[in-house]
Amino acid sequence: MSALIFGLQLTTDGRCQHYHGPTDVVANKCARCQQYFACYQCHDAMHAHHFVAMPLTPTAKVVCCGNCRHELTWSQYQTGACPFCQHAFNPRCALHQTIYFQPLK
Ligand SMILES: [Zn+2]
Ligand SMILES: [Zn+2]
Ligand SMILES: [Zn+2]
Repeated sequence: MSALIFGLQLTTDGRCQHYHGPTDVVANKCARCQQYFACYQCHDAMHAHHFVAMPLTPTAKVVCCGNCRHELTWSQYQTGACPFCQHAFNPRCALHQTIYFQPLK
């Protein structure tokens, strides 16, 4: 079962018109609509509501690897590469962490 990813000018491996570097393959899930998007800008262009950050519970699948479409937990994502296909993730995504993830208090 591979997860669906939405985005503008989406490539087969999960890059979009906003973020399309070689490692920009991670899709993020919106806590409100529970769908994966290539980035929050794609989400906000396609939905009437703004992207809602995912709460980081230990077992929640919060991102999706666009290369192999496996869903990953926060700790799997934090390793910097996909545990299933070994595709590297863009370390600069950390700049946008507050948009995508809600740390548990
Ligand atoms: Zn949403
Ligand atoms: Zn985008
Ligand atoms: Zn993968």
